[in-house]
Amino acid sequence: MQCEMCGSEKAELYKTKVEGVVLNLCKDCSSFGEVVAPVSKNEAKAKRAEKPAAEELEPEKEVIYLIDSDYASKIRSARERKGLKQEELAKRLALKESLLHSFESGRHEPSISIAKKLESFLGISLVRQEEVEIKQGKKQGQREELTLGDVIKVRKK
Ligand SMILES: [Zn+2]
Repeated sequence: MQCEMCGSEKAELYKTKVEGVVLNLCKDCSSFGEVVAPVSKNEAKAKRAEKPAAEELEPEKEVIYLIDSDYASKIRSARERKGLKQEELAKRLALKESLLHSFESGRHEPSISIAKKLESFLGISLVRQEEVEIKQGKKQGQREELTLGDVIKVRKK
């Protein structure tokens, strides 16, 4: 566990009130304030997990849309519940019957816009929205992959 004042790794930390703020401090640093209680290892770990270190850059986020992997059976069973033939459903949604057929057989994943149409017409859920973090480490890795030629080009600017 790491002392929140001096940053040294210690086996034991003490919850210490310093100027109204409770910090997890090592024995030495705890003398700056009023010790409240010893810190359990799990608690310190959880705290670190939710509060990334200040020098860590804010991760970039990107929203991606995913089609449910069960799209084929979901579309088919929802259509059958409505008592519609593939031909009829295709007509209602202005889709090609062959395209709908390829969705239901799992050969072809619907595009997001078509999936949204199917969702609202059939009352099912096909599209999942997910926020992904673009890891900083990955980006640094990409930077390292610069070839010598790239570096020279960059320097000339
Ligand atoms: Zn300390």
